[in-house]
Amino acid sequence: MADTGIGAVRMQIGVISCSGEEILGGTLTRMATRKVMEELRPGQAISLCLPLFIAGGEEERNFARDYPVISVDACERNCAKKSIEKYSGQVREFIILTDFLERDVIFSKTVSMKELTKEHYRMADKIAEEICKKIDAIAAGQ
Ligand code: SF4
Repeated sequence: MADTGIGAVRMQIGVISCSGEEILGGTLTRMATRKVMEELRPGQAISLCLPLFIAGGEEERNFARDYPVISVDACERNCAKKSIEKYSGQVREFIILTDFLERDVIFSKTVSMKELTKEHYRMADKIAEEICKKIDAIAAGQ
């Protein structure tokens, strides 16, 4: 959503991706979240760091209490969603990659940034689109 003029204030919305390091799905959630924060909804999407959040980061936890949060998890264990709900309250929206990407892709071994293919970037773009849809829906109802 673009600013519409003087006085237009965009609601900040937190996005927290899971920290699955071993599987490709975890990597894709973080790539997508970064793209949303830096390119697609800069200034509106605020990335929350899951490890810091779990470790007791007061700034992250307070943000999640005060602003809507979207969790983006690779699998049904929903680590990001559960962590927000444990320490700060309900997430406003959540995404699980298993709802729209193939499981054998999600659970395949992750690759280094140098080994990422165009297909990996295309999948991250799709996840980023899903995040943006949720951001826009939340903002529309603000
Ligand atoms: S949601 Fe799944 S992939 Fe992500 S950190 Fe939890 S167990 Fe790992």
